[in-house]
Amino acid sequence: MSGSSVDYRCLLAAVDLGDMTERVLDRAVDLGGRCDAPVEVANVLEGMPVFLYHAIAPEELQTMLDRSTESSRERLGKLAERRPGIRGTHTVMGILAEEARALADRIGSDLLVIGAHERHGMAILFRDRSDEILHKAGRDTLVVKQTTPHVPPYRHVLAAVDLGGRGQPVVTRAARIAGLYGASLTLLHVIDCFPVDRSNTLIAPEDRDPLAYEREDSLSQLEALASKAGVAQCRQEVVVSAHKASREIPAFAAANGVDLVVTGSHGPYGLGRLLGSTADGIVHRAPCDVLVVRLPAAV
Ligand code: AMP
Repeated sequence: MSGSSVDYRCLLAAVDLGDMTERVLDRAVDLGGRCDAPVEVANVLEGMPVFLYHAIAPEELQTMLDRSTESSRERLGKLAERRPGIRGTHTVMGILAEEARALADRIGSDLLVIGAHERHGMAILFRDRSDEILHKAGRDTLVVKQTTPHVPPYRHVLAAVDLGGRGQPVVTRAARIAGLYGASLTLLHVIDCFPVDRSNTLIAPEDRDPLAYEREDSLSQLEALASKAGVAQCRQEVVVSAHKASREIPAFAAANGVDLVVTGSHGPYGLGRLLGSTADGIVHRAPCDVLVVRLPAAV
């Protein structure tokens, strides 16, 4: 289940049959194999703009839909033939995020695998279809960004760790994935705003430099999380930054050869819906794949 050390039991890869499809499937099959879990594949046919429905005769429309369904099934079949880890394929019609979630529920999938393109500048502010899926997934989601045509095993996993009692599921999952790949593991906490929004328990005693105190405190929390997750050895980093964690984490990943970032997400709530959460920022800016671990909803 989400956040536990138990491996995923069934993966659902959602593909659009575009340029990321092969990479999404290869990664899903690779991870599924390591978890001993089957992979199912979905292609959602989203239909066309409403005005076109009025411009086309109903029987013509039906023929078009039948043709797209047939073509999708055929293409999925060919993709699955070359990948024995794939247990089943599904062509469904409807709204992508909703259908992906409903199908995942139906087949008992606990990990959704989707593709995403890197975005820069202003584009980061706008949501795209992978955002929609991510927010509605209701389960852990692996966002594949791999830019090379082949999908090498992960070598360096980075856990983005939010302290204050919320980091354990992320550390546990990251440690498990690193274990499955024999990859190195780094736990990273970013101190991104000090000390205005901190509770009194985190304010340093009078004779201590507040930043040194907070850094030390963060490192000991990372240590405790690693030990609770049964991690024998990993790198623990605390970065102090004027920027937000959602910028600092991808920058750290880029500078340190990370190929998988593991982050938590409570799902969108409140203003986060409009402004984008830390997890959103990480997904959009990371130069590598991102595994979003679904956390219990925040109170
Ligand atoms: P949020 O969107 O703020 O709920 O945070 C989602 C996830 O982002 C957390 O579960 C962490 O994985 C990561 N995260 C948030 N803040 C930090 C931070 N200061 N340092 C490292 N990771 C963080």
